[in-house]
Amino acid sequence: MSTESQLRADIVEVGRRMYARGYTASNDGNISVRLGPDRLLMTPKSVCKGFMTPDVMCVTDLEGRKLQGDRDPSSEMLMHLEVYRQRPDVQAVVHAHPPIATGFAVAGIPLDRAVLAEVLTTLGSIPIAEYATPSTKELPEAVRKYVKAHDGMLLANHGALTLGADLFGAYYKMETIEHFAKISLVARLLGRENLISREEVMRLQGLRDSYGIKAPAPICAPDDLPQDQAACQVVQAPSSPGARLVPDMPGPANEEGEIRLTYRELSALIEDAIRNLR
Ligand SMILES: [Zn+2]
Repeated sequence: MSTESQLRADIVEVGRRMYARGYTASNDGNISVRLGPDRLLMTPKSVCKGFMTPDVMCVTDLEGRKLQGDRDPSSEMLMHLEVYRQRPDVQAVVHAHPPIATGFAVAGIPLDRAVLAEVLTTLGSIPIAEYATPSTKELPEAVRKYVKAHDGMLLANHGALTLGADLFGAYYKMETIEHFAKISLVARLLGRENLISREEVMRLQGLRDSYGIKAPAPICAPDDLPQDQAACQVVQAPSSPGARLVPDMPGPANEEGEIRLTYRELSALIEDAIRNLR
C-alpha cells in the first residue's frame, strides 16, 4: 500500500485533474482513500478541488469520526463511509459533477445501453441512484442499492460516483463515465445508436477474465433472471445471434412512435412515391 504522504499527494493530483477537466465547479466534489483497515484519508469540506495542498486532508475512522486535520471532512462523508462498509474491496471513492454525465442523471437516462466494448468490460452498466438530498443520510441510502454490483453510477439530479481498487482507478472510471456520456450524447443527437448484441456482450464479459479485469458483478440482460440491480449489471442489449451490431434508435423516439430518416432515405421514399404515381 502507498504511504500516507504519497496518498495525500495523489488526492491533490486527482482533484487538480477533476477541476481542470470541468468535472467540478467551485468547491464541488470529494475524494477519499483507505489509509488502513479502519482509517480513511478524505478531502475536507468547502475547498476547491483544483487548488488543494497535501496538508488540508482529513483523517477519519470508518464511523466518520475525525482523527486528524484542521478542517471538517467532506459534506458527503456519509456516502463515502457507506461505500467502504458495503465494499471491502474498494480502496478509493471519487464523487464529482461531470456536466454531460450529470445531464443524463438530470434527464433520468441511465448509461446502460450496450454501446462501447471498453465500457462494457470495465464498468458494465452505469445506473442512476434515486434522487436524495445532498450531504444527508438519504444519499448513502440511495447508493446502497447499486454499490454492491457497480463501480460507477449516476446520482439523479446531482452527479456521479466511482469506486476503485486504488485512487487513480476510481478517478479513471469517472473519466470513462464522462467520455461515455459524451459519445452517447453525440450518437443520440445524430439520431441513432448501433447497439452491441447480447451475444457479443456476453463474449466481452468473457474477456474480463482473460484481461484480469475485476468487476463486482456479472453483466445480465434486463429479461434475464434475476433482474436484481444489487446482484448484476443490467445492460440493454438486443439479442441477435446473426449480427454483432443491431441498429437502434434511442428510447424516447421509439416510445413515441417517431420515425427518423436521413435526408437521403427521405428523398428515396419521395422518389419512390412519385414513381408509383406515374
Ligand atoms: Zn455532489
